[in-house]
Amino acid sequence: MSQNILFLAHIDESGKSLPRVAFEVLGAALDLAARTSGVLTIGLIGANIQGAAGALASIGARILAVSGADFAHPRYSTDADAAEAICRAASPEFVIAPSTSRFLRVIPGVAQRLSGQVDTHITSIEIADSQVSAKRWFYRQRLEAAIQRDARPWFLLMDSGCHEPWTGAAGTANIEPIDVPISLDHTRTVFAGIRTPNCNAQTIRPDAKLLFVAGAGWCKKQADGKNHVAEAEVAILSFLQNSGASLGGSKSLVDQSGENQAVLGFMTHLNQVGQTGSTPRHPKGLSTCCHGEEPHVVGWRFINERRAINLDPNCGWARGKADVLYVTDAFQVMAKLNALLAKK
Ligand SMILES: Cc1cc2nc3c(=O)[nH]c(=O)nc-3n(C[C@H](O)[C@H](O)[C@H](O)COP(=O)(O)OP(=O)(O)OC[C@H]3O[C@@H](n4cnc5c(N)ncnc54)[C@H](O)[C@@H]3O)c2cc1C
Repeated sequence: MSQNILFLAHIDESGKSLPRVAFEVLGAALDLAARTSGVLTIGLIGANIQGAAGALASIGARILAVSGADFAHPRYSTDADAAEAICRAASPEFVIAPSTSRFLRVIPGVAQRLSGQVDTHITSIEIADSQVSAKRWFYRQRLEAAIQRDARPWFLLMDSGCHEPWTGAAGTANIEPIDVPISLDHTRTVFAGIRTPNCNAQTIRPDAKLLFVAGAGWCKKQADGKNHVAEAEVAILSFLQNSGASLGGSKSLVDQSGENQAVLGFMTHLNQVGQTGSTPRHPKGLSTCCHGEEPHVVGWRFINERRAINLDPNCGWARGKADVLYVTDAFQVMAKLNALLAKK
């Protein structure tokens, strides 16, 4: 069942290379090609795709590219034109692309133009009885679905952290450029820039080995009857700096800024983990001053080893939600941890 597989990617914000997730998804596309004795074609979109094409040269695949200033930044109209042109040139049965925000906005429209179908947030692509199926999670990672479709082309947008990245030596790529004429009404939207939340530390680190989660307890009155928010800020920021961990927060904690309570200045809604927050992927997680309620813990679905620190021996973590629970004061533990890390 030889299949035409198109791996589609765009250049990242640096303007030079592909985003990290693209290499992971390329690994999955190559796997599928190998298991179906399929032919892999690579499609690239960006202002300048030479460097990225060179990085993939050793794969030996056909490389189709739409490049030029019009394709430098995310814009639905031009991105859709570019992806459509590449798909028409490659005539694939499967289009496999990374779930970047740029592609999540545009690929469903491209699937519609090609009379194909699309599935997003794919976590794995498998073959059983010569049938390709793709897996994804539903209902905030509570249900896993295995999807099969007859429609072709079938577009699969794959999430990060789900496959080993492809690595290989760079070389000289033979690129087939595709000319995509852009009409004036397709350039009405102009890219102005990227705005990031106003915080003085970059705290969300998807590649970190550890997810450190802070809960509302950090801002609550402690044994002496007082809040210790300033101390909490120093303890958490020092730990993040010394350990390289990524920072998550419970809903109660991130909501406090809107309720005029004492807050951790660097904590934003982007840090929220859980049912109405994110579901990050990290090998380990450490929860501090957070109760471990189900709507929060469902966001820990993809954390392999879970530990928690809580004063309350009856907290949610104690009921099978953490591998290890330390029933103790998180302020004291973090002070000790920071001292040990600083020595290192
Ligand atoms: C529809 C819905 C969706 C939701 N989605 C989410 C979501 O996405 N994410 C989320 O987080 N929540 C979510 N929630 C809210 C969730 O149910 C909890 O209310 C919330 O997670 C509680 O946050 P918390 O544990 O930080 O605060 P609290 O429940 O106030 O717990 C604070 C904890 O800190 C501990 N503590 C205090 N001081 C110390 C200390 N010195 N050392 C150690 N421990 C200490 C206390 O013992 C306590 O257990 C959702 C709720 C609903 C209804």
